[in-house]
Amino acid sequence: MNNNNSYKIECVQCKSVFTEEETITRCLKCGQALDIIFDIEKLKKTINIYNLKNTPISAMKYLDFYPLKDRQNIISLDEGATPLVKSKELSKKYGIKNLYIKNEGANPTGVFKDRGSLVEISKAVELGAAGIVVASTGNMAASVSAYSARAGIPCYVLVPDTTPLGKLSQSLAYGGNVIKVRGTYADCVRLSSEMSEKYGYLLAGDYAFRGEGQKSIAYEIIEQLNWNVPDVVLAPVGCGTNLYGIAKGFFEWFQLGLIDKVPRIIGTQPEKADTLCSAFHANEKEHRTIQFPSSLCGAVNIGAPLDDMKLLNIIRDSKGSFEIIDDTSVLESQKDMAMLASVFTEPSGAIPIACLEKLKSKNIISEDDVVVCIATGVGLKDSHSATILFPDFPAVENTIEDITEFLDSGILDLKSDKNNSEILFSTKPSNPDIKKIAEDKFSFDSSKNLKFFKELCEETDLFFERRSEMKKSEFQAILEEVIANSKSSDSEILKIVDVIGTHYFSKKAKAKVIIQFKGEEISAEATGTGSVDAAISAIEKALKQKTEYKINLDNFEVNVQSGGLDASVRVKIKFSDKNNNSVTVIGVSPDLVVASLMAYQKGFVRLFMKKQ
Ligand SMILES: *Cc1c(COP(=O)(O)O)cnc(C)c1O
Ligand SMILES: [Zn+2]
Repeated sequence: MNNNNSYKIECVQCKSVFTEEETITRCLKCGQALDIIFDIEKLKKTINIYNLKNTPISAMKYLDFYPLKDRQNIISLDEGATPLVKSKELSKKYGIKNLYIKNEGANPTGVFKDRGSLVEISKAVELGAAGIVVASTGNMAASVSAYSARAGIPCYVLVPDTTPLGKLSQSLAYGGNVIKVRGTYADCVRLSSEMSEKYGYLLAGDYAFRGEGQKSIAYEIIEQLNWNVPDVVLAPVGCGTNLYGIAKGFFEWFQLGLIDKVPRIIGTQPEKADTLCSAFHANEKEHRTIQFPSSLCGAVNIGAPLDDMKLLNIIRDSKGSFEIIDDTSVLESQKDMAMLASVFTEPSGAIPIACLEKLKSKNIISEDDVVVCIATGVGLKDSHSATILFPDFPAVENTIEDITEFLDSGILDLKSDKNNSEILFSTKPSNPDIKKIAEDKFSFDSSKNLKFFKELCEETDLFFERRSEMKKSEFQAILEEVIANSKSSDSEILKIVDVIGTHYFSKKAKAKVIIQFKGEEISAEATGTGSVDAAISAIEKALKQKTEYKINLDNFEVNVQSGGLDASVRVKIKFSDKNNNSVTVIGVSPDLVVASLMAYQKGFVRLFMKKQ
């Protein structure tokens, strides 16, 4: 027991007790996780119940329940006091009368981890840390960087090199020393521990003191429900530190007599990072390691959770459960939360809501339960994932006529699901086949959009010249492209008839093109740094024979639509001319040169028509 504090640090497995000068991360004997055990009787005497019941919520309000000794040292950014959101529409859709979202994205760095950083970095100051090192999938790095900056302690963060820019930019902005590691989160954990030993830095991360800060989520929920305890609390689980902390918060207040029951705690995970759900249901004590987890829910894409034993134990004590869900359902729920409750969370934060249906069908949750789902982080952190379910169209021209045309085109009503790799056509489809699929899968009304439909059929035919099947995402890309490029198809100004190209490994590429300019056929040859460059140069050369007008390529963006060597590509090109007109067009094809030339043709026609 510490002298002036009522807690001890104990190993979850072998029960050895340590001082915080000895270790605050893992057990020195068996390597397992540590836990902070409070002397409940001693704590009871220090709590000021009047203050607790009569002051507004905030993470700082619960200092009595944190294992901190010196209140001079506290590093706070005013975390906590996040909204508990209730939306009738969301409740209705998910069939739970009292469904709440605890919106942890409203914390200072946009994630619940700030609550843990409050305790952990304050402890680092107490211990006189000269530097801090932390492993992260992104959010921990941002939070620890922010608190270290306030404490004036240098901070080193190790992240996998796949970490989204939104998360990295935060760490960099707070002055964190970011080290991108070619490897997984588990590699970062191992290396941060080695760095801590080698350089004497304090190792921050998913360890016991951080978990103590997470308890304030439980305390705030109780207060926000007018001192009632919900029936069920769900959170996404990566390392398990957050949900363990929340559960511990409920149990401690129960032991202190502040509440009369503990909610059922339910852990939720993506199918592709299911380290604990299977273990839970098989009655095992530890996680099942996944070497290369592959969920798009980056914050919980973790293969070896550090707080597995603690979390599995406490969930069992609470009579709770564990559930998993696929990534596509998570994206759907992410969209529902934003549209029906105006809570924009990153994919991980939508996992609990996405699991509700399964849990209801298994009678683990009932429609009459008071259910709280933790939306762990704000959607801006991983803005790319949030756009996966939405079509991406180029901008309209800057006139009200163009806006009207855009609205009338029905583009905004197109359903979208780029994540879907379902095969739509396994042989070349007939026009009626195309019509049916466009209607059924994308709500595209071909009778209202005859011009688009004709082009859709032509481009689908062109696609099948190269490939023998078409995925849903590919059909959608063509559909979007046809609608988005609609204006240019009116004209026969430029038509690319054919291209013959030659590539070399050691020399420049060559291309010969045949084009029609205002109906007249011309051909030309050119070389270029690559196939696309050579083909476009040849077209420019041919055009030069007939017109002064020329366009410049300002920006060229290539997206591969699906995996594999036969993947189709979607190129997005911005063109401009010397009159400062510009246009962005899209081309889709299994062949990069063809996709680029389709875009060039449309871009040229659009700008040529504009110049008059
Ligand atoms: C860290 C994180 C999680 C996972 O929390 P654990 O404590 O590792 O279980 C979930 N969602 C978001 C947004 C996170 O940043
Ligand atoms: Zn131990």
